[in-house]
Amino acid sequence: MNIETVFNESDRSIYEKEFRDWLPEKIFDSHVHVFDENNFKPDYKLPGKSCYQKFNGTFTLEQCLEIVDVLLPDQEFSMNCFGTPDTEADLEAASKYTGKIADNKRIFGMALVSPKDKIETIKHRINDYGLIGYKPYRNFVDWMDYEAVTIFDMLSPEQMEFANEKGLAITLHIPKAARLADPSNQEQMVEICQRYPNAKIIFAHIGRAYFMNNVIGFLDKISKCDNAYIDTAMVNHPGVLEYAFNNFPRERIVFGSDVPIALLRGKSVEINNQYAYLMGEDYAIGSTIYDANKVVQFTTFFYEQLRGVKKAAQKVALSTKEIEDFFYNNINDLVTGIKI
Ligand SMILES: [Zn+2]
Repeated sequence: MNIETVFNESDRSIYEKEFRDWLPEKIFDSHVHVFDENNFKPDYKLPGKSCYQKFNGTFTLEQCLEIVDVLLPDQEFSMNCFGTPDTEADLEAASKYTGKIADNKRIFGMALVSPKDKIETIKHRINDYGLIGYKPYRNFVDWMDYEAVTIFDMLSPEQMEFANEKGLAITLHIPKAARLADPSNQEQMVEICQRYPNAKIIFAHIGRAYFMNNVIGFLDKISKCDNAYIDTAMVNHPGVLEYAFNNFPRERIVFGSDVPIALLRGKSVEINNQYAYLMGEDYAIGSTIYDANKVVQFTTFFYEQLRGVKKAAQKVALSTKEIEDFFYNNINDLVTGIKI
C-alpha cells in the first residue's frame, strides 16, 4: 500500500487549517473494518471495483495504524473493529484475527455473526477471542430475498439472549431500502432494545440516514431506549448530524468512520431526497457517481465526515466536553463497561 494514494499534501493542509486546533486529543473510532487475507474464503477473488483493491485486499492493523498516523497526527487513537461482512467472508477466521489484535485497552473487537451460527460457536468467538460484541449483516441472511430481511432475521433469539446476558455491544446496519424510515425498522429497533435491555445496540450510520427526509422524525422512538446508540460512520451531512445532536441523547452518539471505505476520495451528497457517493476514485461502494473527468479534487470521506461533524457541532454549540465525549468517552465508556 502506497500511503501517498491515501494521504497527500492537500489533505495535510486540510488537517492543519480545519482540524488541528479543533479535534480533541483522544479519538475512539467505533466503526473500523480490519482484516487480513483470511477474512475471505480461499480462492475468493475481490471484484475489480471493490474498494479493498486499493489496499491490496487486506486492511490489517498495521495498515490501519500507518494511515491513522498521518490522518490524525496529533491524536491518541483507539478503535472498535471487525472484519468485513462479505458474503464470501470466513466469519470464524475474521473473528479470530479481530481477537488477535484486540488488547481491550485501545483496540476492541467484535465477531462477525451470521444468524445461522450455532450458539456454541458464538460463545466460543466471544469468550475465546475476547471480543466485546457482534457485527451481524444482512448479507448473512442468504435464504430470503434481500429486501425482505428484517432486523430480527439478522440474529437468532439464542444469540440475542447471550448478548443480553453478557451485556454485549452490537453494531447493527439496519436492513431495508427505506432505512431508518422503514416502518418495520422503526418497530423492531425499539423492540430489540426493549427485549434485550442489557445488550447495547449501536445503530450504524445513524440508521443509514444520509439525507434529511430519512432522519427527520425517525430518531424519536429509539432515543427513548437507554441501550440504543447511534454511530456516525460515513455521515458527512451537517444537517443530518445537527439533527442527531438535537434529537438524540448526546451521550449515546458515538464517532465512527467506516475506515477503510472512509479512506477513499469522495463525499456523500444529498440529491432530491436521496443520496449518492460522489467519488474521485473508480470503486463501487453502493450508490456511486464517479467523477471520471476529474472535475473536482476530492479529499477522503474521513475528512468530509470530520468537516460535517465540525459544522454541526458549531451549529448546535457543543461544549468542549461534549466534543470529547462524542469522539472518545461515550464509546470508551460503553466498551470498557463490557465484561469479557
Ligand atoms: Zn462498516
